[in-house]
Amino acid sequence: MAAERVVQAYIALGANLGDAAAALRRAASALDRLPLTRVRRMSGLYKTAPLDTDSGEAIAPGGDYLNAVVELETGLAAPALLEQLQRIEQEAGRQRPYRNAPRTLDLDLLLYGSARIESAQLTVPHPRMLLRAFVLVPLAEIAPERVSPEQLAAVAHQAIERLGDFTV
Ligand code: AMP
Repeated sequence: MAAERVVQAYIALGANLGDAAAALRRAASALDRLPLTRVRRMSGLYKTAPLDTDSGEAIAPGGDYLNAVVELETGLAAPALLEQLQRIEQEAGRQRPYRNAPRTLDLDLLLYGSARIESAQLTVPHPRMLLRAFVLVPLAEIAPERVSPEQLAAVAHQAIERLGDFTV
C-alpha cells in the first residue's frame, strides 16, 4: 500500500432482513479484504426504525434496521470503491423490488477523504447523510471531527439505540 495515495473513506452499513448483525459483520470483513484497503475503525452497532431515505422521516413500520459506520484506509479510487460496495451488496443477496424496500445489505460511501464528487454514479459527500441519525451518530463516534454538533442536533429527534460494540 506504501506507493499508493491512501485515503480515509467512511462507509455506512445497514441491514434489516434476516440475521442483520451477521450481514453487517460479513460486510465489514469483506471491506477489510478489498484490494489496497483496510478497515481502521468501526463504530458501535446501532438499531434504528426504518426512515424515508430522502426526507429522513419515519415511514410505515417494518423491521428495525441495524446500522454501523466503518473507516477504511484505501488506495482504491472512489469509483472503484463504489463498484466494490455494489458487488458486496449483490453478493449479500440484495433485492430491490421497490423503493425503500427492506434490504439484506446497504453500503453507502459517505466520505472519501475531503473529495467532492458529482458524477452520474456517485455523489460524495453522500447527499442524504445529513438527514440520517443512523449515519451521523455512528460516524461521530469514530470521526468526531467530521460531524458538527449542529448536524447532530438536527437529527436528534430520530430514535437510535446503541446495542453494543460492532466486532467482526
Ligand atoms: P442506494 O439505494 O442508496 O443503495 O443507492 C444506490 C445508487 O446510488 C447507485 O446507483 C449508486 O450509483 C448511487 N450513489 C450515488 N452516490 C452514492 C454514494 N455516495 N454511495 C453509494 N451509492 C451512491
